[in-house]
Amino acid sequence: MKTKEILVVYEKFVAKNYGRQPLALVKGSGSIAVDSDGKKYLDLVQGIAVNAIGHSPKAVVNALKQAALLMHTSNIFYTIPQGLLARELVKISFPSKALFVNSGAEAIESAIKLARKYQHDKQTGRFEIIAMEDSFHGRTYGALSCTGQKKYHKGFEPLLPGVSHVPFADFDALKNAVTDKTGAILIEPVQGESGVHIAPADYLKKVRELCDQNGILLIFDEVQCGMGRIGKWFGFQNSGVVPDIMTLAKGLGGGFPIGAMLAKPEVMDSFGPGTHASTFGGNPLACSAALAVIKSIKEKKLLKNAQTVGAHAKKLVEKLRKEFPFITEVRQTGLMIGIQLDRPGAGYVSACRERGLIINCTHDTVLRMVPALNVTKREIEKGVSILREALCQNIS
Ligand SMILES: *Cc1c(COP(=O)(O)O)cnc(C)c1O
Repeated sequence: MKTKEILVVYEKFVAKNYGRQPLALVKGSGSIAVDSDGKKYLDLVQGIAVNAIGHSPKAVVNALKQAALLMHTSNIFYTIPQGLLARELVKISFPSKALFVNSGAEAIESAIKLARKYQHDKQTGRFEIIAMEDSFHGRTYGALSCTGQKKYHKGFEPLLPGVSHVPFADFDALKNAVTDKTGAILIEPVQGESGVHIAPADYLKKVRELCDQNGILLIFDEVQCGMGRIGKWFGFQNSGVVPDIMTLAKGLGGGFPIGAMLAKPEVMDSFGPGTHASTFGGNPLACSAALAVIKSIKEKKLLKNAQTVGAHAKKLVEKLRKEFPFITEVRQTGLMIGIQLDRPGAGYVSACRERGLIINCTHDTVLRMVPALNVTKREIEKGVSILREALCQNIS
């Protein structure tokens, strides 16, 4: 099918809840994606930080041969990949136990429910959640209620009771918002969707103390910044502040849908049999894919690659900032790069696409790159030079 024909099918048969770019991708390899008309693109977005080790990596494709062995059992039985994945995730994060789901939003729902159940079991009366302004946690009701952006709430009210928001990385505001009903504080160590905003380490340390002093659970949403994205396994490792609960999804399965929630054992133990569940959660296929991703990141030393190539990208984009005054700030940690403009960015995304580069625009005015962790310096150089051409265009 040609792109034009696919667009016609969508127009007639697919829900219109996404603002899609007029591009139909049919295959990919590493940082290259190919559209239905045969045109090649350098993809520095990778399905929004999902294809952690690029398009259709051999390691994940091979792991999915698990399909021929056993695809699904549901959680009334044990399977080997789920146990092994839990063990791997705990090994690279913090002493915890894992619960598996299918998406970021579902991981957040699990975290909200676990926090409430834990506080309920302890009879603290602490059921409220404080989340951050401009945060993004997903579209299901609990996750949406925690998402600190009015534009996503509009028309869907009433939302989950007991959720409030304070400005990101403002400790005094957070401290003043805490009451004897506060049960959990929810933070992205690096805000992704709002355009790569990095929580300072000293802020997170103070938040940890505040939680410890008041019996409040600290939840880190690492759905986007986790799994090697920042050049360490997890965003919390930038500050050394260990959360009580952590959520994962996006890059975890290297393109295969899977989410996870990790929690300190004494917290996770509030989920006894029958309290929480997900039919597909921890499915052997998804867990096998995730195991292959972790193995590849280790074997190919991709944390180091994310650090060095990310720093290189930052240097190149800083040069663009000097050339184009409408770039007001460049924010980067590992391979999470946000280019803050003083104007809407969508036109530049289109100009890049026409020239064979995929980036995206988030929060209206931020150009974002979240390339594969195995992207090369040369690919980044090529991407930035195409971006430069696009920025030279007169876009209204
Ligand atoms: C994308 C994202 C989510 C939601 O994940 P879905 O899989 O789309 O439900 C939650 N939190 C963060 C930080 C995200 O970036």
